[in-house]
Parts: sequence; C-alpha cells; structure tokens
Amino acid sequence: MYLVSPKRVFKGNKAWEKALPEISKLTKFPLIVGRSSSTNSLRQKIIQDLNLYNINTVNETLHFDCCEEDLNRLYKISSKNHCDAIIAAGGGKVLDAGKILAHQLSIPCITVPLSASTCAGWTALGNIYSQQGQFIKDINLSSCPDILVFDYSFIKTAPTNTLTSGIADSLAKWYESSITSSSNRDGLVQQAIQISRVLRDQLFLDSEEALAVPSMENIAWRNVIEGNGLTAGLIGGIGGAKCRTAAAHAIHNAITQLQPKKKPLHGEIVGVGILIQLKLEEIKNDNKLADQSIKQLVQFMKKLDLPTTIGELGIDIFDNNNLQRIADFTCRKESEIHFLPFSVSPDDIVKNHFNF
Ligand SMILES: [Zn+2]
Repeated sequence: MYLVSPKRVFKGNKAWEKALPEISKLTKFPLIVGRSSSTNSLRQKIIQDLNLYNINTVNETLHFDCCEEDLNRLYKISSKNHCDAIIAAGGGKVLDAGKILAHQLSIPCITVPLSASTCAGWTALGNIYSQQGQFIKDINLSSCPDILVFDYSFIKTAPTNTLTSGIADSLAKWYESSITSSSNRDGLVQQAIQISRVLRDQLFLDSEEALAVPSMENIAWRNVIEGNGLTAGLIGGIGGAKCRTAAAHAIHNAITQLQPKKKPLHGEIVGVGILIQLKLEEIKNDNKLADQSIKQLVQFMKKLDLPTTIGELGIDIFDNNNLQRIADFTCRKESEIHFLPFSVSPDDIVKNHFNF
C-alpha cells in the first residue's frame, strides 16, 4: 500500500486560520501534544483559536524524546478523556509521538510543525527513542496524518539551527535513495529519486539566502522550509520504503546511542552520516565521484555552520571506545546500512577517522 501524503495539506501564510474550519469537522475534543517551553506561547495560541471553534482540548507535553514511557502515559490520558483526535504541535519528536498515539488509538491525527527541521509532519513513520534520546526503532503507521498545517508564521519562530538541521536531513534523501535504489527500475521509485536530486540542488542554491533573510516574503526561505517539511516527505511517500534511509541514518541511529552532553539535532547527526556514507562509497565501492561530492558537501555544510565530524557533534571518538561502539551499532544485523549495494563491516568504519 502506498501512503503518499496527508489527506489535506494547508501551507503558507495563514495556513492555520484556513485549516481551523476543517479541523473543527474532524475533532471536538483533541489531545494537544507539545514539548518545549519555547513553543508554549504558540501552543497557547493554537488552543485559544481551537476554543473559538468550540473545540475543547486536553493539553500535554512530552517529558522526554518520543519514548515508550511518554507514549504510554499520553495513551492513558487520551483514553481516559475520550479524546477524538491528536493535534501534535512541535518538532519532529512531538510530531512522531502524535502520529504514533493516533495510530495506537485509531483516531485522526493533525500535525502542526513548529519548525522546518524534519518532514515528520507529512510521513506515515514514527521513531521511538529511549528517555535519554537513544534510537530504538521506527514504526510504520497505517496512514499519513489526516491534516498537515504548515504555517509560515509558526515555522518562522523556530531557531536557525532547526532550519539548517532540516536542510541536512533533506539532503540525505538524495544521497541515501540514489545509492540504495538507483538500480530499481520501478518508475515511481526512479521519479522519487529525481525529485530528491532536484530538492538537493534547490537547497544548494537557496539555503544561504534563506538563512540570511528568513522571511515569508523571501522565496528562497519558502522554498527551503517547504523542501524540508513537505517535499522530503513526498519523496518518501512516492518512493516507499526503498527511497528512505541507508547509511546516513544508520550512522545517526548509532551516534544517538552515545548520548553526547549537548544533544545535537536529528539532521545535524544525519549530515555527518552522509559524509561518512560517501567516504564508505569511495573506499568500498570505488566511487570516484564520492570525493568530489564530499568536498562540495563539506563546503556547503560549513557555510551553514553544520557539524561535519563526529567530534563536532560533541563525541570524542577516542574516548570510551566510542568509534567502535558507533561502528558496531551501525553494522548490527537489522541496520539500514545493509541496504547499501556493498558490504560494510565495523572495521571499515573504525579504520577511518572520518575527519572532513
Ligand atoms: Zn531523517
């Protein structure tokens, strides 16, 4: 079954106001899921606006990342109150938690991204982490959200690093899908890969200007936030599982196991994962163009102030056998790294220090 997109997408200036009548048809008593104190005032606005449409809400926040403990607690709260939908307003982990809850409760889900750090508002996937933020598993959901509200004025309030992190995560679509699926002759998969290439090129062209002038009037900014929040999700929707993740996300999942003191954002880790993947392609797959791609990408990432090494993510690879631990987790049996068209062993990772 193809889960291509949310049933309805509202995007742009005043998307939230335009979505309210549709939301009121879907729910009268939703559970609002949020997280950080920095988005609290936006969530209060969302709740007040819903009240004006005679929608009463139960309001809860995640205590940790999207983890079993939070999900179980919110599941009970939603069941006890007979909530008839979930409205998830926040970053990727909040959106994932909202989607998983709605899936478990078999009620509609409305996603309201408050940053452009991820395409989680779009997709029928959710990641489960430990309370400490270690990746555990991803879950395939039975549908994409019922409504996605991608309101420019909400996205604009997010910190700059959420945008740069989202750019790195979106770039991974091309680097991962092109290596895992280029020999797949299915037309939709091929077309999804081409969209991911166009998205990469657009991000290369527009990102610096988007960051310099983060304004709704700036077409570069709009292109970049929509690329991260919408197009990246569409690529997964059209391409299906084959177009999703490979080494860059496998390395991300491994790096989250080490719990650096200051937790990097998802895309910041994925960006480093892309560079390591390209290096593996060069060493193990004799990809002569990989070196060129690494140079191009490192230059771009440095301009955006994105980390390019594991060290810059706050992890000393020489300490505590860290590089070996990353290598072992990356290469565990169920890892996406095995979707690469060549084999990678922990030694291939340990032997290279990957300082870009
Ligand atoms: Zn990702």
